[in-house]
Amino acid sequence: MKNILLLGATGSIGKSVLSVIKQNQNELNLIGISFNTNISKGTEIIEQFSPSYVHIENVSCFQEKKFFDTCSYINTPSELEDLINHKEVDIIVCAISGFAGLKAAYMAASSGKKILLANKESVVAGGDLILPIAKENKTEIIPIDSEHNAIFQCLNGEKGTEDVKKVIITASGGPFLNRSISELKNVTVNEALAHPNWKMGNKVTIDSATLVNKCLELIEAKYLFNLDENYFDLVVHPQSIIHSIVTYIDGSSICQMSSPDMRVPIAHAMSNENRLPIDFHSLDFTSLNLSFQEFPPDRIDIQNIAREICNKGSNYGAVFNAANEIAVESFINGKINFDKIYEVIYRTFDNKNVSNDLSIESINDIDMQTRIEAKKVVKSITN
Ligand code: NDP
Ligand code: MG
Repeated sequence: MKNILLLGATGSIGKSVLSVIKQNQNELNLIGISFNTNISKGTEIIEQFSPSYVHIENVSCFQEKKFFDTCSYINTPSELEDLINHKEVDIIVCAISGFAGLKAAYMAASSGKKILLANKESVVAGGDLILPIAKENKTEIIPIDSEHNAIFQCLNGEKGTEDVKKVIITASGGPFLNRSISELKNVTVNEALAHPNWKMGNKVTIDSATLVNKCLELIEAKYLFNLDENYFDLVVHPQSIIHSIVTYIDGSSICQMSSPDMRVPIAHAMSNENRLPIDFHSLDFTSLNLSFQEFPPDRIDIQNIAREICNKGSNYGAVFNAANEIAVESFINGKINFDKIYEVIYRTFDNKNVSNDLSIESINDIDMQTRIEAKKVVKSITN
């Protein structure tokens, strides 16, 4: 039996993780959860799964909560750190969304346990901090972002990455497939949130619509697989069936395929020696019509920023991530049009102020400063 601590339990990834646990109750047990404000969803999970520990990040929600005698409730960062390091916890799922997940991901990376990593923003902003800490503490990081889990599975059984020639990261293209940025000025938030293949949290769904998600994933992949950016190609694959492809030096290309369902990478990452069964939707190979197309040329500038970040490392990723988070939030709140998301990122990134100090404090500082800068750009656009 493996005890799972699910950080970000009330979100979309949280829901998929709970489904995998529910279908494998002989092997998996939910020992603890964390969330921010969604008390009603949190209460539902407690009623269904009886976790022993519940971390509520938001202080007023923590104070308002309904107590269950069966759980210990916690709120402070040191209590969260103790829970992450608790001897009963075997697997930590990092499924908090955005930069807010960095603190917990950093603690998890230091734990020496197995981490299932969904929170790509923590790697983009803090890759140079988190990966070395994980290595030092022998923490095993298994990606559950579908593309990265696919790459992980395609590399399985190989000695390392020396024989890898190329890694192709696939992108669905999102709801605005085949539409140029100039055609997207007046799209609504609801249109941008209507992803054709995946049902995800709002932030990552907007990132998919802008394709900034793929740029974040390029940086995430560079860190997780320790390969230079020039190994990675981004390719649009609208059906979201092939989740990524690894081409080896002998000409073999290996891909991982499944219906678009986050429970597939999660079940793989949760497994030990044997795979875990889930009620997946089978692919009908006789009716599959798979297509691929180039990454849109009008997103080359944003892709180039991601490649620059891969090459420079340091705290450049934290700037990119914070600028994007403010841009996305401003679009969702109706402050800027969809096409201005790129402008906020470009202009904030141009004014970047980067230190080479890779401590968690310094990354938090850069995140905070960048948010202030990005908000100024948003203001200048709205005025
Ligand atoms: P959601 O917005 O659906 O869920 C986010 C979770 O994080 C919720 O449990 C939320 O709690 C919690 N949370 C938010 N802010 C804080 C905070 N400050 N402190 C503690 N907890 C917090 O996001 P997703 O599940 O869609 O995404 C999670 C991560 O996984 C993201 O990094 C995303 O990029 C990545 N990912 C998601 C995919 C998907 O299919 N959804 C696919 C691939 C990657 P509350 O509900 O209380 O606010
Ligand atoms: Mg992904």
